[in-house]
Amino acid sequence: MKPNAHFQCINGCEPTYSLSEVIYTCPKCGSLLEVRHDTAELKKKSAAEWKETFASRYRSVAEPDNSGIWAKREMVMPDLKPENIITLGEGYTQLFHSEKLNRLFGIRELHVKLCGNSHTGSFKDLGMTVLVSQVNQMRKEGVPIRAVAAASTGDTSAALAAYAAAADIPSVILLPHNKVSLAQLIQPVANGSLVLALDTDFDGAMKLVQELTQEKEIYLANSMNSLRIEGQKTVGMEVVEQLGYKVPDWFIIPGGNLGNVSALGNGLLLYKELGLIDKLPRIAVAQTEKANPLYLSYLKNFEEFSSVTAQETQASAIRIGNPVSVQKAIRTLRTFHGVVEQASETELSNAAAKSDLAGLFSDPHTGVALAALEKLIAKKVISPDESAVVISTANGLKFTDFKVHYHEEKLKEVMSAMPNKPVLLEASIDAVRRAVDERIDRGLRG
Ligand SMILES: *Cc1c(COP(=O)(O)O)cnc(C)c1O
Ligand SMILES: [Zn+2]
Repeated sequence: MKPNAHFQCINGCEPTYSLSEVIYTCPKCGSLLEVRHDTAELKKKSAAEWKETFASRYRSVAEPDNSGIWAKREMVMPDLKPENIITLGEGYTQLFHSEKLNRLFGIRELHVKLCGNSHTGSFKDLGMTVLVSQVNQMRKEGVPIRAVAAASTGDTSAALAAYAAAADIPSVILLPHNKVSLAQLIQPVANGSLVLALDTDFDGAMKLVQELTQEKEIYLANSMNSLRIEGQKTVGMEVVEQLGYKVPDWFIIPGGNLGNVSALGNGLLLYKELGLIDKLPRIAVAQTEKANPLYLSYLKNFEEFSSVTAQETQASAIRIGNPVSVQKAIRTLRTFHGVVEQASETELSNAAAKSDLAGLFSDPHTGVALAALEKLIAKKVISPDESAVVISTANGLKFTDFKVHYHEEKLKEVMSAMPNKPVLLEASIDAVRRAVDERIDRGLRG
């Protein structure tokens, strides 16, 4: 059987490569590879038939249909044998919305895609199930892979560690020492990975893992490896399904290494090509001021790009100064008439806190995206009459220090606009009644 998906250089250099080859960049021009699909094959089914197929698989109890990724396997990894799939039930996450949220952010229709409600607590699960399943298949076919390795700001390592443990494949994690949260570090430790805490930053760890994986027996799991993108690309596909195939005006997504924005774009482009949607949204990438190389390049119309030295930020997973997928991201932004916005520590923290008042529990990266939304509305780039989907990339429960310190007004560089401090009281019913009367009747929260 002819394979339906293969690697090809993003610049279209020949030849193409099998997905079972250990290769990440183009030997001719050095650019990243991407997975190309045989869309003629996919078009043999009509858009209506695909919608029907996905609807029938939605929330199935049977593996692999019970995964949001593998329910779309023909469009993700058509050549992967079902018995080699390593799934932990990723995808199919909530698309949060409420009138209160719309009101708080001053826009007609805001949805927040809660990718952090996933096995390891971030969207990285979407890509890792694909990568680890493919490695599982390659090992069974006799490709000598001793271990899978990744550099990580935290969430990639958590996802790699869990999926590798589930597949019984050794994993190696290269982390910047003291720059990720304890909750993030503890996941790979618990899952039995070899965890190497290095005296460097993320960009330094990334450089080392690229050197380590020159040796083909150690397989690279960073998003430089475009297999990750194939899983992550389902996020936009899933969102439009949840909206009844109505395309929102905007997607806003936090960006660090910039693999995820191109993944979002790829999924939507595929749906457009196959006729499942009839238009494309615009895309805004949100960066922190502390690691904003794409924002700086955007200001120059993407005519030049320079890496920066990323500074300390609450949004630690996007503390990346030299993003490996920048070329892909710029291409996506050009296709989607995209913009880039940045957020300060105060802006991201207050935006996260504001969304929490609608019932969310937003992590700092989602805070960056929400702050960008507010700023783009203020700049009239996004109109209050439009609809927007914010991609929430991680679970706020991984960042309890961020939350605690926000409400204690102890976050570095942050002016907490809406701190909510517990009231210390004597244990008497009078004191409790008084506190309730004082605080609830006056409607402090509007
Ligand atoms: C990895 C990550 C990002 C950034 O994704 P990129 O593909 O590197 O741009 C954003 N938020 C969280 C929580 C992440 O873990
Ligand atoms: Zn090339």
